Amino acid sequence: MKRYQMILLALLVSTLAVLAWPELTHRNEGRSLARGSVGNGTLENGWLLPYYGKNYRYFSPLSYYILNRGYVHHRVHKVLLEAYATCETTCPEVRFRLMECANKHGGAMWPHRTHQVGLSADFMVPKLRNGRPHRQLDQLGIWHYALSFNEHGQLSDRVKIDFETMAKHLLALDDAARANGLSVRKVILKLDLKDDFFATQSGQEVKRRGIYFARSLPPLVNELHDDHYHVDFGR
Ligand SMILES: [Zn+2]
Repeated sequence: MKRYQMILLALLVSTLAVLAWPELTHRNEGRSLARGSVGNGTLENGWLLPYYGKNYRYFSPLSYYILNRGYVHHRVHKVLLEAYATCETTCPEVRFRLMECANKHGGAMWPHRTHQVGLSADFMVPKLRNGRPHRQLDQLGIWHYALSFNEHGQLSDRVKIDFETMAKHLLALDDAARANGLSVRKVILKLDLKDDFFATQSGQEVKRRGIYFARSLPPLVNELHDDHYHVDFGR
């Protein structure tokens, strides 16, 4: 390697280390404070989610280390990890992907309209290919937000959304939220996909529990919620 290439590489590595420093050195302790609303607020003492666990993984190093978007309220931190632990039993073959949460100090986070106080999280839809868990597309990182599924949750003849697993995950989130003094306040999923979701066995249980799904959405927001589901937690 030539000398200038070495210098460029060293510069790149040190820039990345500086940008990722908050995450590399972060320690979760104490309580978080959510001020304001999910659409206009801040987060004090946000907790950083682990980049990965046994059956889940954050979806993008860019989002996590550079954009610093892997933070949540400490209670939500507990809820998310407890729900994944439940899913180890309820859907053992699935590897989940967690998407954007909140900035370290909350506040506006383009292009999301909410996610401002650490009580919101995006979850990548689990997918099936010929009826088996399909993970290849999970590696798209932030480009996964750009995938477009049809009104039945199909990306192609073979690849479709695994609504049953998604519902099991939501049930686990609901259980964990109740156990930690929170509730699943709102789920956002593209309106056309809701009938397929509620047609599954676990989807019916989600319905029976009365977990609230957004009933009408601005067209752009609706279009964007086919590749992931958004959850707001509340008291
Ligand atoms: Zn969201």
